[in-house]
Amino acid sequence: MLDMQMMYKELGISEKVYSYGQEIEATLKERFESIDKVAEYNQLKVLHAMQESRVSEGCFHYASGYGYSDQGRDTLEEVYAKTFHTESALVRPQITCGTHALALALGANLRPEDEVLSPVGKPYDTLEEVIGIRASKGSLAEYGISYRQVDLLEDGTFDYEKIKEAVGEKTKLVTIQRSKGYQTRPSFSVTQIGQLIAFVKQLKPDVICMVDNCYGEFVETIEPSDVGADMIVGSLIKNPGGGLAPIGGYIAGKKEYIENCAYRLTAPGLGKEVGASLGVMQSFFQGFFLAPTVVAGALKGAIFAANVYERLGFPVIPNGTESRHDIIQAVTLGSPEGVIAFCKGIQAAAPVDSYVSPEPWAMPGYDSDVIMAAGAFVQGSSIELSADGPIKPPYAVYFQGGLTWEHAKLGILMSLEQLVQKGIVTLP
Ligand SMILES: *Cc1c(COP(=O)(O)O)cnc(C)c1O
Repeated sequence: MLDMQMMYKELGISEKVYSYGQEIEATLKERFESIDKVAEYNQLKVLHAMQESRVSEGCFHYASGYGYSDQGRDTLEEVYAKTFHTESALVRPQITCGTHALALALGANLRPEDEVLSPVGKPYDTLEEVIGIRASKGSLAEYGISYRQVDLLEDGTFDYEKIKEAVGEKTKLVTIQRSKGYQTRPSFSVTQIGQLIAFVKQLKPDVICMVDNCYGEFVETIEPSDVGADMIVGSLIKNPGGGLAPIGGYIAGKKEYIENCAYRLTAPGLGKEVGASLGVMQSFFQGFFLAPTVVAGALKGAIFAANVYERLGFPVIPNGTESRHDIIQAVTLGSPEGVIAFCKGIQAAAPVDSYVSPEPWAMPGYDSDVIMAAGAFVQGSSIELSADGPIKPPYAVYFQGGLTWEHAKLGILMSLEQLVQKGIVTLP
């Protein structure tokens, strides 16, 4: 223990920042313990699914070509289905990212004249083009599929009255985003999602309820599929990939809907039968196995950051004490210099590209410069420690991930060190 502070010092953390961090960490013991309990439960859930599905060494073999009877792929899909308590799952490296998985789940289950309803306000940015809220080639709108949206009430809860009005003849699918993503609304607990689904199903029993589960997997002991969701959808370079999956997305849910997804991903008639796993199976299995504890580390980092910055007077969402439904933490630093210093600190703490200094830059799809910090093993992986912030008021950074709590802690201390050195923060 004696050398701990020296180690931090060698990595660039001053005594003052270290001590401040230690003080904050000491207040979080009980919360960290309850996060460990959730991880323990979810670890058992995944292990049980792996054992029941008889995962074996043969699952890790390289499969190429059509991929008929690809043992690893088929077994992995069984493991996902068992873990999430669904009839079926599609878990593929050919699903390139979360947006692709969501576009697939929507496109595969909707037909011309159908309507999609989002009862939780605006969906994630990239879905705007998928749905056709912003015009795009191949959007659902181009195929004659319409979209309706009911915004949340002022206090972030569901507007049941408007939802009731919005569910009609044409409503085929309801899409519910669990995580706030990069908005300021609250993220929803699985229980809240269950209540919303129950309400919608009571209005129209045959409507498909899909949940965008990105950033939410393993944060709680239940998933939206345990409370009535017909499909849950996510990215493997977020929570369920455990930091090891180099690519991929999943959709888990009712057999009929997953079959539609498979027919859309490959071809009508072929479905799940084709799609070789090309050697990624060991990382998919092992990443899923590690995911519960990786998510726990990321959650601890998010809570630590909330408490570190809240105590210094910066607005944080979620706040330091509220319960967590995803791994994203927003910190409003209030100035461009603050956002830049924070991101430079996160970058400097990375295992990869730590010597690189991120700068604000114009990015496609954003209306201001954006600064991004990521020193990841997998490009763009946001289960790894990462942060980004648009350079515009209120000058907030969104921060998430960390494959280990220890790394997340260092990253947050580094960010604070940068802010202290720039004179933006004075420690008590
Ligand atoms: C990340 C994310 C997506 C999109 O995933 P990509 O892998 O970036 O395409 C969609 N919805 C939510 C809530 C997300 O967090």
